[in-house]
Amino acid sequence: MNDCIFCKIIAGEIPAEKLYEDDDILAFRDINPQAPVHFLLVPKKHIPMPKDIAVADEAVMGKLFRIAAEVAKKEGVEENYRVVLNNGAKSGQEVFHVHMHILGGRPEPRPL
Ligand code: 5GP
Ligand code: ZN
Repeated sequence: MNDCIFCKIIAGEIPAEKLYEDDDILAFRDINPQAPVHFLLVPKKHIPMPKDIAVADEAVMGKLFRIAAEVAKKEGVEENYRVVLNNGAKSGQEVFHVHMHILGGRPEPRPL
């Protein structure tokens, strides 16, 4: 997907602070953090929106949760992070390549 900013980060065409990488997924710090620790996890496969996740993607989507926990532990927020996936522009999705936000280290719990 030529115009996808996250595909460009995956391809190394745009720099990012990478926190984890394997054949299936990449984790990198959000450029505009909304919490003391804010990073994103993406499948390397271009999937536009969460609603587009197929049966064949189930394993990699599960892996995102497991690696999120590993990276959160390294970032010192093992027991204080939230997971957010936006689906669609009306929900706040701005980048149309599935990504999991990890928002960690906030001092107080928030309603949602
Ligand atoms: P969305 O609103 O689509 O759920 O979240 C997109 C996220 O990607 C935003 O939090 C935004 O700050 C982040 N983002 C957008 N462009 C870049 C970029 O070029 N590099 C990095 N590291 N994050 C980005
Ligand atoms: Zn993409």
